[in-house]
Amino acid sequence: MISGTVTIATEICKGCELCIVSCPQDSLGLSPSINHKGFRFAQLVQDNCTGCTNCALVCPDSAITVYRETKSSKRASNPLVASQAA
Ligand code: SF4
Ligand code: SF4
Repeated sequence: MISGTVTIATEICKGCELCIVSCPQDSLGLSPSINHKGFRFAQLVQDNCTGCTNCALVCPDSAITVYRETKSSKRASNPLVASQAA
């Protein structure tokens, strides 16, 4: 299985949970703490992300960057995916 991870711009996130419900791996959840806007923000809650990009595609604020582990000789062709050498 392809391995991936995400970073979330927590100060941009408004806690709408769209990314959470769109994740087929249930990798995301809301934080117990709040950002400066007063929203609980999305965060990784499990280390099982596949880098599918669903969460980044649905986020209305483009707060999510997806990283997918690839072999060093191949780069991800999806512009939503930032390559990360394995
Ligand atoms: S990239 Fe896919 S598997 Fe990873 S957190 Fe986002 S929706 Fe879930
Ligand atoms: S979809 Fe975007 S704004 Fe909504 S909870 Fe997820 S990261 Fe935050």
